Amino acid sequence: MWHCSGTSILEVVILMGFSYCFFKIEKYNLAFKIVCTESRLVRGMLVNHGFHEVHPNSNDFNLMWTGSHLKPYLLRSLQDFQKVNHFPRSYELTRKDRLYKNIQRMQQTHGLQNFHIVPQTFVLPAEFQEFSSSFSKDKGAWIIKPVASSRGRGIYLVSSPSQIPLDENILVSRYISNPLLIDGFKFDVRLYVLVTSYDPLLIYLYEEGLARFATVKYDHATANIKNQFMHLTNYSVNKKSSDYVSCDDPEVEDYGNKWSMSAMLRYLRQEGKDTTLLMGQIEELIIKALLSAEIHIATACKMFVPHRCNCFELYGFDVLIDSNLKPWLLEVNLSPSLACDAPLDLKIKASMISDMFSLVGKFAFSQSQSLSRNPDQSLTTSPQSHVVNRQRLPSANSADPEAQREKPGAKLAESTLSLTAEEMKVLRRAQEEYDRRGGFVRIFPTPDTWELYSFFCSLISWLFVLVPPSCSKVQARMAFSSYLHRVQLRLLAESRANMGPAWTQKEHDQMELVIRFLKRASSNLRQDMCLEEPSRQLCLSDRQRILSHQLGNFIQLYNQETKQMVESLDKIPDEDRCINSNVFQEFILEASENDLEEVLTFYTQKNKSASVFLGTKCDSSRVERNRESDPLETDNLPLHPMCACGLSFSYFISSLSLFCPTVSQKPSLSKSRPGSAGLLKETDSLSAQAQSNQLAIVSALRKLVEKQAARQYSTSSHISLLTQHVSHDLHIRYMFSFSNITA
Ligand code: ADP
Repeated sequence: MWHCSGTSILEVVILMGFSYCFFKIEKYNLAFKIVCTESRLVRGMLVNHGFHEVHPNSNDFNLMWTGSHLKPYLLRSLQDFQKVNHFPRSYELTRKDRLYKNIQRMQQTHGLQNFHIVPQTFVLPAEFQEFSSSFSKDKGAWIIKPVASSRGRGIYLVSSPSQIPLDENILVSRYISNPLLIDGFKFDVRLYVLVTSYDPLLIYLYEEGLARFATVKYDHATANIKNQFMHLTNYSVNKKSSDYVSCDDPEVEDYGNKWSMSAMLRYLRQEGKDTTLLMGQIEELIIKALLSAEIHIATACKMFVPHRCNCFELYGFDVLIDSNLKPWLLEVNLSPSLACDAPLDLKIKASMISDMFSLVGKFAFSQSQSLSRNPDQSLTTSPQSHVVNRQRLPSANSADPEAQREKPGAKLAESTLSLTAEEMKVLRRAQEEYDRRGGFVRIFPTPDTWELYSFFCSLISWLFVLVPPSCSKVQARMAFSSYLHRVQLRLLAESRANMGPAWTQKEHDQMELVIRFLKRASSNLRQDMCLEEPSRQLCLSDRQRILSHQLGNFIQLYNQETKQMVESLDKIPDEDRCINSNVFQEFILEASENDLEEVLTFYTQKNKSASVFLGTKCDSSRVERNRESDPLETDNLPLHPMCACGLSFSYFISSLSLFCPTVSQKPSLSKSRPGSAGLLKETDSLSAQAQSNQLAIVSALRKLVEKQAARQYSTSSHISLLTQHVSHDLHIRYMFSFSNITA
């Protein structure tokens, strides 16, 4: 068997065709230390990239790689350029008893069916009674594990409670007796999961993993219960078996007792198994396990970790797949083995570690250098891409005086999304991480996983500002009505203030737009509305007053239609998936015109339709015409959503924005946003609209979200339920669509 121990990792890497000798960063004087672990791979890789190793007691390091949990005082002393490879209280995940307790808590809160990701487990001796009663209902094999051990140590199967010692803390789990077999052998899967932040939670799953096989064919007869080589899949157990088969060729990934995960998936696919579904379920299991410990770890970070970027963590998730293709989480490893006993280990782990350093730190390797995937790629990178940590942005911690000094960031935040400098920094960091992700796949949050699992988040983090909730149709109409009402009031106020005779061409155009809007919108009402166009001979203030009155009439009829709509429906479609009506009412009452405009613009964009609040009575021939016509040049302000693919509302909003100086004066949002006056002059593409709409909606919904967050922290359980209800409904517009502003 081929071993790399004793040989320099780098020699091995080169032997295998990898070449990690790209950009050296000695001149930046980057230092690392390795504590409580012996990782040749990590050391070799860092040294080869110009890091130098310092003594384990030294505090002068950029990266600390440790095999154990960190003491709070060590964490507290970290500076902003220092990183460690563990979060505080990670044992909430990596200790078997804590993991199970956390998942059990989620089962109790959210229902067993939502967190049925681990085999039923009891912590003994405390829960012996419960275990005995479970056992008597459903006899079968159980597996005994020490609460905090690894590598199969102390693990054995029992078929009766009498075989269980009661003098030590142990875990007893229902044994999955129907594992999926390959060639008759049981196997489990090791997955590498990287978390770079718990608040907000950011999870990456490495694209490759390992399948580890037992060495004796599986037979669940009780007589074999003591055969560890059959029931346990740990490498450390099975390597002792004379039947263990290793593979010396890194290119062969499906031979012997250790396969690559992709080879295993390929095999299953050939067998007709739905591996896409399987991987989806595995991702679900990973996300849910992390969510179950999220609150503990995030709280510990707040208490002990001085800077947001100090911690990252690579977890080893062990998953067993049963014959129904259901994955079960067996355990989460604190420091997954990086030993490279076989070429396949090195191939996967070296690549994974390289990508991990690239992702977590600016000092590390860029994604283009993930050579295992593209060995021929050129390896030159500019020194700038490896900016040293010591020069990185000041701390995210608001208490940090350096953070106060970060004027440009603060300004940017202020002028774009009303995000704070800190929030912008987190966005920027997440964007940068994503750009450097290499073989890591971000699994949370993504639009899909957010929709599916954000409901289970313990924290309503500020990240929610990026996740606009959806409105029901009725809510969209309410928002629209409120919006018009505010415009109406503004017209009235302006008519009172604007008594002078002179008026500009711009004001004239604004009036025309509102008149055109009213003409079209009133024709879409079910009830006839008598519209009097104010004479052009009248002075501006009179015209404004008349228009305000007309708008008031329109709103009244419009509200009646909304009321009829509510009455005609037993149940508002999708009501249960929408923002809680009380919360929404409150939002509507307090929202500014701009806020409402943003909500409506987003709703239109999201549904590709404004018909709900603009009406649908226009005929198709007009629709076609409208699509091609310029609303400024003709009398065809497009109101029908289908005809303008989401443009109609923007044009409509444009017309009203002209009437609302405060809206169009808003610095950055209105610059490119479809709802702004600027767009009337230059028609942007839809994709640009989509992007700017996303930006625009953020600031309005942020207020709503903050309100929800404030509620969640109150003690009342119904309020927290409400928050969960709302968060369940959130539709992510993930941060990475904001690259333009975060760059
Ligand atoms: P360790 O930390 O010692 O590796 P694990 O929980 O991963 O502990 O268990 C070791 C092995 O035992 C697993 O790799 C798996 O093969 C087997 N195993 C553990 N729990 C179960 C279970 N509930 N059902 C079936 N097999 C299990």
